[in-house]
Amino acid sequence: MGLRPFASSPNDESPSETGQAKIGVLALQGDFKEHIEMINRLGAEAIPVRLPVDLEGIAGVIIPGGESTTISSLLSQFGILGPLREMITSGLPAMGTCAGMIVLARSAVGLDHDSLKVMDIEVRRNAFGRQVDSFDTELDVPALGDGVPLHAVFIRAPFIEAAGPGVEVLATLPDGRVVAARERNMLVLAFHPELTNDSRFHKLFLGMVDKYRSGEK
Ligand code: GLN
Repeated sequence: MGLRPFASSPNDESPSETGQAKIGVLALQGDFKEHIEMINRLGAEAIPVRLPVDLEGIAGVIIPGGESTTISSLLSQFGILGPLREMITSGLPAMGTCAGMIVLARSAVGLDHDSLKVMDIEVRRNAFGRQVDSFDTELDVPALGDGVPLHAVFIRAPFIEAAGPGVEVLATLPDGRVVAARERNMLVLAFHPELTNDSRFHKLFLGMVDKYRSGEK
């Protein structure tokens, strides 16, 4: 399926003022600890989500990298899948990195498990093949607004093969493959900013949380 061309959009995010926002970080499997640390460093409170009760009062959710099959399966087993899907569909800001992007995607080639399926993208798991299992590269991300390339770490990464009309592409590889996108309240990255010191995407996400909390959604 071919990708339609996307218009780039100006950066409309201001630095986060999310002082006391509680951000839930799904902590069933994967690199949730790094996300929690990054959110805390930015001055917001990150709490691990392991049970449906942990979803109460959160102003945003992060789905970490890890194994999308395992995360999806645990989401069902722990009774989080339905409630979280409902919350994101109703506007709760959600950010997914790598496996998290797969879990949020409406359709994921290679994922044989029910998942959140809330974002209008089709992704392919482990899309770069064995030869290039992991790699890192510099990405241009106009939405970050400062013109500074982002050092992106890819680990058995997916990419976005197709997207619906409401999806804005935020970054592509030189060959055109889409590796970061946003749709309304959802932000997905095929790579792992949480494994670097670059917190600009987490800041962008906290900006989305600010808007959600102030009722703009
Ligand atoms: N390959 C993993 C999956 O399909 C994702 C890898 C990652 O999150 N770094 O879920």
